[in-house]
Amino acid sequence: MPVAPTTSSTTTATTGERRIIVAEELGYCWGVRRALDIIEDAATPESRVAPIGDIIHNPQVVHRLRGQGVEGAQDLDEAESRGFKRVAITAHGFGPQLAQDASTRGMEMIDTTCPLVTKVQRLAQKLVKQGYYLVVYGDDYHPEVKGVLNWASTSKAVATKKIDQLPWNAKRGETGEGKVSPPRKVAVVSQTTKNIDELMEFANTLQAMVVPNGGEFRLCNTICEPTTERQEALKRLIDQVDLILAVGGRKSSNTARLADVGNQRGVTSYHIERPEEIDQNWLEGVTNVGVTAGASTPDDVIQEVVEYLANNGFTPPEGGIRPVDEDYVPAF
Ligand code: SF4
Repeated sequence: MPVAPTTSSTTTATTGERRIIVAEELGYCWGVRRALDIIEDAATPESRVAPIGDIIHNPQVVHRLRGQGVEGAQDLDEAESRGFKRVAITAHGFGPQLAQDASTRGMEMIDTTCPLVTKVQRLAQKLVKQGYYLVVYGDDYHPEVKGVLNWASTSKAVATKKIDQLPWNAKRGETGEGKVSPPRKVAVVSQTTKNIDELMEFANTLQAMVVPNGGEFRLCNTICEPTTERQEALKRLIDQVDLILAVGGRKSSNTARLADVGNQRGVTSYHIERPEEIDQNWLEGVTNVGVTAGASTPDDVIQEVVEYLANNGFTPPEGGIRPVDEDYVPAF
């Protein structure tokens, strides 16, 4: 059953107390938790499932899943050569071709695409049908972004986070050598995990290029609700602590990003994978230590970090790290 945090995990401090403050939203997002539930229910060691691409950037979870018959493959060729008859689409989604190719090979396909990603895929299709040139604000190498572009199925689409990587360099109506101005209709959707402030900056600049001379611009904020809540929770955490530990796999870019935001906002922040990586010097003079975690970090790893800190003189939060609402479903 998908679950999500509800209330703050903070505790009331007494004078001189050193505290652990856990971000109100951290670790698995709703969509990743849902995808793991589906795949763990479907797989057994006798009937294994190969998710195509990385299901999760966390070595501990990858190891645990392997024992349950879930083992990633880079593509269908690899899955087939390793004897898999069942494959899965991860929470990030994939283009429509994958399901067709799996069917042609007689493979069973388990779709764990997050419904909030599916929403972006359908929206992209609709916008293209309505004649918009589609801009996907996001990382062009990311599977979610690639999937959205594949569903849009048009040459009139681009994925980028940078204005200077768009196919246009001028406002509509501007002419001159080397000037390329946008078409009349341009729409933006966002990768679900992007930052709203950065999306708005990008969209405002693009809008100013598109709307002159009868242009039409549409911004669809498709950053998902769990991501928005996570960003807001991080801001609140930053206001309360003097050190942040962002817990997540070494390859988890969203964990690295959490630590970056903390550092940018003036709170010393470290990205750690395991509690053993905590340097005692980091804790010198710290009263409140904040703990957050990337979207692929399981609760038990977060718990180990909290226990380590508790053993080093910090008061843990009352009620554990993740009070959850079993009935939570994000808005989409
Ligand atoms: S869309 Fe949001 S909830 Fe769904 S998998 Fe992505 S980050 Fe998680």
